[in-house]
Amino acid sequence: MRRVSIFGSTGSIGVNTVDLLTRQGAAVQTVALTGGRNVALLAEQARRLRADLAVTAHDDCYAALKDALAGSGIAVAAGTAALVEAADRPADWVMSAIVGAAGLAPGFRALRQGRTLALANKESLVTAGPLLMAEARAHGATILPVDSEHSAVFQALTGEDMAAVERIIITASGGPFRDWSAERIAAATPDQAAAHPNWSMGRRISVDSASMFNKALELIETHEFFGIDPDRIEVLVHPQSIVHALVGFVDGALMAHLGAPDMRHAIGYALNWPDRAPVPVARLDLAQIGRLSFEPPDERRFPALRLAREVMKLGGLAGAAFNAAKEVALDHFLAGRLAFPGMAAVVEEVLARLSRESGLSNAAVGLDDVVEVDARARIAARDAAVRWQRKDQR
Ligand code: NAD
Ligand code: MG
Repeated sequence: MRRVSIFGSTGSIGVNTVDLLTRQGAAVQTVALTGGRNVALLAEQARRLRADLAVTAHDDCYAALKDALAGSGIAVAAGTAALVEAADRPADWVMSAIVGAAGLAPGFRALRQGRTLALANKESLVTAGPLLMAEARAHGATILPVDSEHSAVFQALTGEDMAAVERIIITASGGPFRDWSAERIAAATPDQAAAHPNWSMGRRISVDSASMFNKALELIETHEFFGIDPDRIEVLVHPQSIVHALVGFVDGALMAHLGAPDMRHAIGYALNWPDRAPVPVARLDLAQIGRLSFEPPDERRFPALRLAREVMKLGGLAGAAFNAAKEVALDHFLAGRLAFPGMAAVVEEVLARLSRESGLSNAAVGLDDVVEVDARARIAARDAAVRWQRKDQR
C-alpha cells in the first residue's frame, strides 16, 4: 500500500489532492495531513482519508482540532515543530502545498527520507533552488513539479535529452488586468486583483497572477528545476489558459502541453507518475474553443517579469530576498496599505538595497542563509512599503 502525506491539505492544491486520493480509496494509507486555522476541514479530511496524524500550524488551534477528532483514533499535533516532525514520518509520496516560505522546511525533511516530493510550493525552488535540488540528488529523492506550467514542461521532456532543448516557453493568462491601462491598474482593489479569469486558486496566488509575480516566480522555478539558462526561458501571454507550456528543440520543433485549466491535471500526473491513470478533469473540445491566442507580455505595466530576470542574473540569495519582499508587499496590498504598482516598486527597492549592502549573489551554504536573507528582506520591505504608502498619499 502506498503511504502519502499532504502538507497544506486544506488549501486549494491540498483540497484537490485530497479529492484525487479519496477516489483511490483503499490503495493509499494517509500518514499525515496538515493545515492552518480551518480546523473543521482538516478534521473532516483526516476522517475521510483515515489519516494517522493531523497537524495544525497554529498552537492555539490545538484544542479545537483535538475536539473535532475526539474518538477517531487520529493523532493530533500543533505548531511549526510538529509540522516538521510530521515530515519525518515515513511516506512514499509527499505533497508540498503549504503557501509561502513556511513550506520550505517540511519539503526538505521529506527529501531527506529519499521520497517522491510533489512540489506545489513555489517558494522552495525560488528561495533555495540549488539547495533543494542538491538535497534530492544526495538522498536519491524525486521531485515532481506541481504547477501547471512546470508539469507541462516535465511531460513534454519525457524521453528527451535536455541537450536538445533550445528554449522553454511558459504561458500566462495575463490575469484580470491584462487589458487594463496603467492608470486603471494603479487604482485596483484586492478583490479585483483576486478575481482570476480562468483558474480557481488561493487568494495570494491569484493576486500574484494579476501582478505577474506568479509568472516571475515560475520563471525562476523553471531556471532552477530544469537547469536551463534564463535567456532561453520565455513567457507568452495566452488568455485562454489551454496551452500550459511549450518546449522548443534544436530542430525547431515545439512540443506543447494542452489541458483544461484544472490543477488536478498536474496533481494527478504527479500522483500517478511514472504511469498515467484516469483523472476526472474536463476533456477539451478544441473545435468548440475555436481559437487560441498569444501575445507578448508587457513588462512596463507588469515589471515583475523584469525583476525576475534580474534575480536570475544575480543568482545566490536574490531569490530569497525577492520572494520575501514580494510576500510583505502582497500583505500590504491585501490590507489596503499599498497601491497595486507599489508591490513591484517595493520589491525592486529591496533587491537594490540588499545587493548593495550584502551582495545577494553569494550562494546559500545552508537553509540558515536563506532564512537570514528572508528576514532581512522582510524588514527592508516593511520600510519600503511604508514609504511608498506615504508617497501615494501625497
Ligand atoms: P492556499 O492559500 O489555498 O492554501 C495554503 C495551505 O497552506 C493551507 O492548507 C494553509 O492552512 C497552509 N498554510 C498557510 N500558511 C501556513 C503556515 N505559515 N504554516 C503552515 N501551513 C500554512 O494556497 P494554494 O493556492 O493551495 O497554494 C499552495 C502552494 O502551491 C503555493 O506555494 C502556491 O504558489 C502553489 N501553487 C498553487 C497553485 C493553485 O492553483 N492554487 C498552482 C501552482 C502552485
Ligand atoms: Mg502556474
